[in-house]
Amino acid sequence: MPVLYNRISNEELKKRVLNETDPRATVSFYTYFVIDNPRAFRDNLYIKLNKLKVFGRIYVAKEGINAQISIPKNNFLIFKKMLFTLHPALNKVRLNIALEDNGKSFWVLRLKVRERIVADGINDENFDLKNIGEYLQADRVNKMIDDPNTLFVDMRNHYEYEIGYFENAINIPSDTFREQLPLAVEMLQNSKHKSIVMYCTGGIRCEKASAYMRHHGFENVYHIEGGIIAYVRQAKEMGLPLRFIGKNFVFDQRMGERITSDVVAYCHQCDTLCDTHVNCKNKICHLLFIQCPNCAAKFDGCCSITCKEEMGLLYKALLKRHRISNNKIKRFNKSKKLLNRTMQFIRKNNHT
Ligand SMILES: [Zn+2]
Ligand SMILES: [Zn+2]
Repeated sequence: MPVLYNRISNEELKKRVLNETDPRATVSFYTYFVIDNPRAFRDNLYIKLNKLKVFGRIYVAKEGINAQISIPKNNFLIFKKMLFTLHPALNKVRLNIALEDNGKSFWVLRLKVRERIVADGINDENFDLKNIGEYLQADRVNKMIDDPNTLFVDMRNHYEYEIGYFENAINIPSDTFREQLPLAVEMLQNSKHKSIVMYCTGGIRCEKASAYMRHHGFENVYHIEGGIIAYVRQAKEMGLPLRFIGKNFVFDQRMGERITSDVVAYCHQCDTLCDTHVNCKNKICHLLFIQCPNCAAKFDGCCSITCKEEMGLLYKALLKRHRISNNKIKRFNKSKKLLNRTMQFIRKNNHT
């Protein structure tokens, strides 16, 4: 029987990766194409990637594949050859290689079969995912951005848009892609005569969104190939001015890559110019928000007075109940389950 799943503990795997001396590359790619049997496709791919010591997260669905992985640099060429010959739709698929990254953000290979690679809530059988808009490269993006008959539409989450966007782009304000699609059709109803340029971080969302808009009668639909990431790289290579201003939100500790020096967002607490995302230090709240250094000091890194006070109570309670040193509190602070239990306890006691 070939190995189809990982069975080693998380800590052990993490330790192994951190101890590795061979360099790794972080690579992401996606393609929409019909996979008749996602389960068989998945198992076959798992065996191949496992042999090449590839880690990361891959989703396979009937509509295609979406992958974020790390590959030992020594195996990169073998990997590429394997991927390009796996299926005709994967031949020469665009591989985005992260530059400022040690490739150690993954330590296990998780390959999952899903209903969709991007959850969209579309139930219409006539929806044709292949009927996409026209791809744009950086040079055409820069030309179209000055055209008054063109509308740039940001298909990311509102907090991503908040800190950086293409000049004059509008955002479809929503928390999920599923809600965003019908909302985009509704919001742009009076702009049908215009050219619509859609974009997202890496291109996977707006590719589907462009097909959705065409499905709803929009004729001049474009989308930026490879998203903001590819645009910035191409613009730099071609020596073009960057028309994406501010920061590009990324889902790692950095929470954003600076693209231009413009700061386009404001501290949520005092409204001064600031584009630093943080999570509320009160682990039970953990709200993602924008906070300036002044407010970070004033609120102890919390999003509100309530959270600051709750965090204060929490520390006091932990000290009293466990009589533990400050060092240990730091460790306790990482255990969300324990904190939740403690907080429930405090709340209960405050009410009686
Ligand atoms: Zn502030
Ligand atoms: Zn909070």
